[in-house]
Amino acid sequence: MNAPAQAPIGFLDLPRQQAAIADALRQRVDAVMRHCRFVMGPEVAELESRLASYVGASECVGVSSGTDAIQVVLMAEGIGEGDAVFLPAFTYTATAEVPLVLGATPVFVDVDPHTFQIDPENLRQRIADVRRAGRLRPRALIGVDLFGQPAPWPELRAIAAEEDLFLMADCAQAYGASLSGRRLGREGVATTLSFFPSKPLGAYGDAGAILTDDPERAELYRSLRTHGEGKTRYEVLRTGMNARLDTLQAAIILAKLDRFDAELARRRAIASAYDRGITGHLTPPARVADSESSWAIYSVLTRGEADRAAMQEKLKARGVASAIYYPRPLHRQPAYEGCHDGASLPVAEDISRRIMALPLHPELSDNDVARVIAAVCA
Ligand SMILES: *Cc1c(COP(=O)(O)O)cnc(C)c1O
Repeated sequence: MNAPAQAPIGFLDLPRQQAAIADALRQRVDAVMRHCRFVMGPEVAELESRLASYVGASECVGVSSGTDAIQVVLMAEGIGEGDAVFLPAFTYTATAEVPLVLGATPVFVDVDPHTFQIDPENLRQRIADVRRAGRLRPRALIGVDLFGQPAPWPELRAIAAEEDLFLMADCAQAYGASLSGRRLGREGVATTLSFFPSKPLGAYGDAGAILTDDPERAELYRSLRTHGEGKTRYEVLRTGMNARLDTLQAAIILAKLDRFDAELARRRAIASAYDRGITGHLTPPARVADSESSWAIYSVLTRGEADRAAMQEKLKARGVASAIYYPRPLHRQPAYEGCHDGASLPVAEDISRRIMALPLHPELSDNDVARVIAAVCA
């Protein structure tokens, strides 16, 4: 009794999305081909202004990726050797990579077992650890809006103020999410975004941006993204990067922006359907109170590693993709073991063994959603 072959359900369906925005894409790309200003063309400023106004930020600086966005922000603060940068142990590697590239030390903080966001209580402890050891200067705190839900911003803001830390938001996964009715983008002194193709607002290549309400920092970010240039091109004020946002990528994001709210609504509807459908089989992701997620990733908890492997096999046999974000907390990665102080971070370790993501993107049909739920519950 072979079921009729059905198309596999994956984590992205860019062809289906492309078909839905084909006209807008064509017009946007054609316009760039006509003016040929491939580097810092008018689409860059247009996108910056749309991204800023969507969240009510006063400044936006387009850059080449979410990772470069973090680097520009930390370089602007002069963060480097001897500095401790606090960040969750359970996040994408880029958050921790940049402090290390700049010579600073990432200090890993444990996370909440239900929302997977940084744990403010453990953060206080980790800051105290660093102060007690006396080797590093606590300088910065990076809050990550993991999977599209907001980090505990009120607590992070209070701790950053008490401890005199520069507060940055790594919002790579959460543009379009909100907390207490306010869209994310102004939670830190600077907020970094990524438009990697699999993020909720994705380009067709690498792209990123920085949001801030501080005009002086914005000017510094603009200088740093173009080799540290001053008022004229050949005035070099500081060591910078080549981290500009590509014009074609800006054009593609602009073509997608008109649909973005509808896509977010669709993501939320699918997440609710999953919640209802899988309860009793898997633990749905706990919601951060008073917030709306951008649903970059819908992660559930299984009972353990063996259970998760069996579930992934079962889903695969039914044509449903699954993925693990993230199979190892950062302090257990070879790249970071050397800089970790050895503190035990038990929640990050436990959830990395049990977590599993289901496909969630706006192109999933109601039938696809039903197939995913049926595969989980079978
Ligand atoms: C994707 C991501 C980044 C990096 O963004 P890129 O555009 O791929 O460089 C940084 N932090 C988090 C949490 C991410 O998910």
